[in-house]
Amino acid sequence: MSAPVVDTALTVINGQGWSCVDFVSDLHLQVSEPATWRAFASYLHQTPAQALFVLGDLFEVWVGDDVLGDPSGDFEREVCDALAQAASRIPIYWLAGNRDFLTGDGFARASGARVLSDPCVLHLMGQDCLLSHGDALCLSDHEYMAFRQQVRQAAWQQAFLARPLVERQALARQMREQSQSRQQAMSEHADVDASQARWWLQNAGARRLIHGHTHRPADHDLGGGMSRMVLSDWCANAQPPRAQVLRWSVDASGGAPGSWQRLNPPAGITLKRT
Ligand code: MN
Repeated sequence: MSAPVVDTALTVINGQGWSCVDFVSDLHLQVSEPATWRAFASYLHQTPAQALFVLGDLFEVWVGDDVLGDPSGDFEREVCDALAQAASRIPIYWLAGNRDFLTGDGFARASGARVLSDPCVLHLMGQDCLLSHGDALCLSDHEYMAFRQQVRQAAWQQAFLARPLVERQALARQMREQSQSRQQAMSEHADVDASQARWWLQNAGARRLIHGHTHRPADHDLGGGMSRMVLSDWCANAQPPRAQVLRWSVDASGGAPGSWQRLNPPAGITLKRT
């Protein structure tokens, strides 16, 4: 077997010096789910992490940054303000998901989030982790892969963003309903393709992939010393409620290389259903 080719074009975040780092994804924040938002807002205030990585789909939908300047954007402004407040304390890294891929410079300015490309590498105490939302790895969902390719094109995005905001909001609702009925019709939801995940890791020179999107939190062994950690989605109204944070931390004794914990919910967060 030839040596893996390391893709030097990948962004590398240097986490040297951090001893506690949090990862979340798929909160699907929306005005109709206030309990989930309250839990996350309270988490943002309290987390002891020195850096937070949001790996996509923080928002249920994002139809363009101009929502922040529109009377209909109260909820989006509130979330961005809370992110900005937290970002003045710790760096918040942002990787867009399939729901909020239209977050742009306006969102980054309003939230203080540092925008990452998907995938990218995080270097933690001698471990290289590859971070992704995960949707680009679900190869068996051909229909979604074709859709993804279309909507990630600059020309498609320019044309979409040129439509009036109300029209985009209506379209997003329509697309969401279609995607929900499609998911109900599917016997099994697409999952991450293991060989593609291994290929990505080899290409990046990393051993651990961390991603969300599939809403199937688990740790998978990919063989060859490689693994894949899947984040949970959040839903405060589910039974039991889901508000899971994946935390990497080094204990006070400095015992390298750090340990991983899944906190559901993280300490200090009470989940009140609505
Ligand atoms: Mn997703």
